[in-house]
Amino acid sequence: MTSTLYIDGSWQSAADDATREIRCPADGRLVDTVSEASAVDTERAIAAARRAFDSGPWRETTAAERGDMLLRFADLLDQRQEDFARAEADDTGKRIIEARIDMEDIAACFRYFGKLAANEAGRIVDAGSADVLSRVQHEPVGVCALISPWNYPLLQAAWKIAPALAAGNTFVLKPAELTPHTAMMTVGLLTEVGVPAGVANLITGAGATAGEPLSSHPDIDLVSFTGGLITGRHIMANAAATVKKVALELGGKNPNVVFADADFDAAVDNALNAAFVHSGQVCSAGARLVVEESIRERFVDALVERARHIRMGGPYDPDAETGPLISEAHRSKVNDYVQRAVAEGAVVRCGGREATDEDGDGLCSGWYYLPTVIDDVSRGSSAVTDEAFGPTVTVESFATEDEAVEIANDTIYGLAGAVWTQDAGRAQRVAGRLRHGTIWINDYHPYLPQAEWGGYGQSGFGRELGPTGLGEYVEAKHVYQNLRPAVTGWFADRRSSDEGTVSGA
Ligand code: NAD
Repeated sequence: MTSTLYIDGSWQSAADDATREIRCPADGRLVDTVSEASAVDTERAIAAARRAFDSGPWRETTAAERGDMLLRFADLLDQRQEDFARAEADDTGKRIIEARIDMEDIAACFRYFGKLAANEAGRIVDAGSADVLSRVQHEPVGVCALISPWNYPLLQAAWKIAPALAAGNTFVLKPAELTPHTAMMTVGLLTEVGVPAGVANLITGAGATAGEPLSSHPDIDLVSFTGGLITGRHIMANAAATVKKVALELGGKNPNVVFADADFDAAVDNALNAAFVHSGQVCSAGARLVVEESIRERFVDALVERARHIRMGGPYDPDAETGPLISEAHRSKVNDYVQRAVAEGAVVRCGGREATDEDGDGLCSGWYYLPTVIDDVSRGSSAVTDEAFGPTVTVESFATEDEAVEIANDTIYGLAGAVWTQDAGRAQRVAGRLRHGTIWINDYHPYLPQAEWGGYGQSGFGRELGPTGLGEYVEAKHVYQNLRPAVTGWFADRRSSDEGTVSGA
């Protein structure tokens, strides 16, 4: 399929007919050939979204009608879950069972915002006078640029699409160039549930070319971006010229803090999940194990032993526990990160290299990297400061609660973190002091559509999910009505007597 741009309700090719091959990271097979948009195509999509926002049927929809569309979308997604999950698994290489869970989470997200839509119309304000009616009404921001990454392609896009539509915006969606298929299926499904032409537009293509106008074009009112820190900084700077609203969901270097009194087996098992689910290509991955000194050796030994035996494989391998990295280029970046750590004096306890067929059948044909535990890292070294976005975890240790908090907060990021302890008071104290947007106590990774998600520090700003996640897509307008208009008397009326009353003379 090469007409994969969805602009103004129709499938179109790139103006210059450029295309891109999409290959499955698990085995390199050709999945599809899609359109590769350029800035010209993006500008067409922006123009369509602008028209649909400024005039046309979408403006006349009520929040309840938009909410119903989102609920119908969720029902249809449930019915077609397998098709969506397969498309996601083929693009990302992730296990089909994980892709199915992602689709369930996406349907839950649409349901959450579908129900919230009609309940967030605004509020009446007491103006302190019986002669005044004052209300704050919620209105859509306008044309939104929604830019999403490749690790959870549709989930990350859904966190933007659902609230943007609930609030009545129009959008141009740009999924990551490597993983466009579920975004394509989604705009089709939105049309099926009644979203009018021009409201949901899609461009498939590279960030630096197709994506660039999304943060600079004057007709874009809001940019919601999920991706890497460097790209986020660039988008924020670009958006400044036209003072767009910006929401940034960036990277993380997330601490997983384990106290000696934690349930040992549960903490080891979850440290494995924290670091190696989806081969660590998770923004909230627990890539920094921060463990109490008295159990460090036993804990790391157990972690390494289990990490060595993780089974890797493709999306449809029933024995696989985790899959490949997204691309050869990304695998080289992860390997560079590990080799830099070694050059800085760290010790690789397991992994630290690309997988070969000796590590599992067929691994040579995909972009697999072995689960890697990096010990003996020093504070401030690149191993503990830089996001690897791969299957790696560093080990640091602490002696006191204060030291645990200090180490866990020693990062420019602030996306997520966990604390493991059976001391309820300590759990709450530490959770309160960690400067990260999500804290898990005796767990790792769960999130809820009704609870805000987002970062402190350079993990970004703005929130997705929860009521604040809808608020990002809303303008609050204050409408103040004087029910008894009268002369104020503030300025004297100095008109001559034949023109009217003279007062204050
Ligand atoms: P990336 O920054 O390379 O790309 C993200 C998206 O931005 C892609 O669609 C890309 O094409 C687009 N893009 C790139 N340059 C652009 C430009 N100049 N203008 C407009 N769009 C542009 O990130 P990635 O490699 O796809 O994703 C990995 C990163 O995403 C990691 O750092 C990860 O932590 C982060 N992430 C964060 C969250 C979160 O919730 N905070 C969730 C998932 C991923």
